[in-house]
Amino acid sequence: MTSEIPAITIPADLLPADGRFGCGPSKVRPEAVEALAEVSGEYLGTSHRQGTVKFMVSRLRNAVAELLNLPDGYEVMLGNGGTTAFWDALTFGLVDQRSQHLSFGEFSSKFATCVAEAPFLAEPTVLTAPPGEAPQATGETGIDVYALTHNETSTGVAIPIARPTGTDAGALVAVDATSAAGGLMFDSGQTDVYYFAPQKCLASDGGLWIAAVSPAAIERIERIAASDRWIPASLDLGIALDNSRKDQTYNTPALATIFLAVHQMEWINTYGGLGFSSGRSATSAGIMYSWAEASDYATPFVSDPELRSNVVATIDLDDSVEATVVSKVLRANGIVDTESYRKLGRNQLRIALFPAIDSDDVAQLTRCIDHVVAELRSA
Ligand SMILES: *Cc1c(COP(=O)(O)O)cnc(C)c1O
Repeated sequence: MTSEIPAITIPADLLPADGRFGCGPSKVRPEAVEALAEVSGEYLGTSHRQGTVKFMVSRLRNAVAELLNLPDGYEVMLGNGGTTAFWDALTFGLVDQRSQHLSFGEFSSKFATCVAEAPFLAEPTVLTAPPGEAPQATGETGIDVYALTHNETSTGVAIPIARPTGTDAGALVAVDATSAAGGLMFDSGQTDVYYFAPQKCLASDGGLWIAAVSPAAIERIERIAASDRWIPASLDLGIALDNSRKDQTYNTPALATIFLAVHQMEWINTYGGLGFSSGRSATSAGIMYSWAEASDYATPFVSDPELRSNVVATIDLDDSVEATVVSKVLRANGIVDTESYRKLGRNQLRIALFPAIDSDDVAQLTRCIDHVVAELRSA
């Protein structure tokens, strides 16, 4: 079947100033790109073992600590490979024997799979919930890592972050915050490893992982790294920790990615930190969900308002409109990446509400969607 894109031109006064609404890579602020261009002559193309880049890495580590309000003793680590590589690193270097995972969508299921396939670990406990809902972590004997996902990007479900009760002494809480870090409020003292990649709320590019780790997590990392477990060097958290403490990475990082992430976090921190950035996302979420609730053809996919994400909105459309056609028309008008997560298979739009995205642009987007749907219906 060839699907023609209906020729609909959205009036200029309805268009957002910036048409990027994807969940990752996501909008990079033009101010950050301009700042990168300004320093490119001294910064890009220089050694990551020398002062200029090491200073940028130290700014990144400090900015994360400030942004996330890290308690004393917590440290910031980084390395290459993004969150997906970090799941492998956690499998090798954080899980002692057995982990428990909350699995409620594509991303949260993946770390559970890594652990389940590791021959040196016991079978994990996987607590599941259907897409659009969330399971709850529960204390369980023999579990040494509780693996949570702050925001399930594939479904638009965000969960509160709290240590489960009734856990064994020394059990750690590891949180995949790839699409949450910098956009959702939480108490970092409730986590031992809060990890993410910078192509979402940090408005940078992919390929890097960043983790805020507690003293207990550091102790675990150092103990496993010193044990006789075989760990590939590029996934060895002990090696990553040593390098991070020297403001370096084990192998060459993407310097532009580091710079853009620093720029975004320092912008957020200048305006008051996580309260400011999560406030921007909350404002955008309010606009998006109240529009959908008032609409006669759109509905928030996540039925429990408490679980609705402030950083990723998933909006179901009724059968009278095809979401894929709406997304294509928007794309033809310069508004990109509103498609729903492929594997979810719903008649849905998915829209990033990350802090870099202006709430005014989110409001404009709702007007654009209304315009496109009205045109499609009258065709
Ligand atoms: C995007 C995303 C990932 C994957 O990140 P990569 O850096 O591409 O590996 C993992 N978890 C969540 C929650 C995400 O949103």
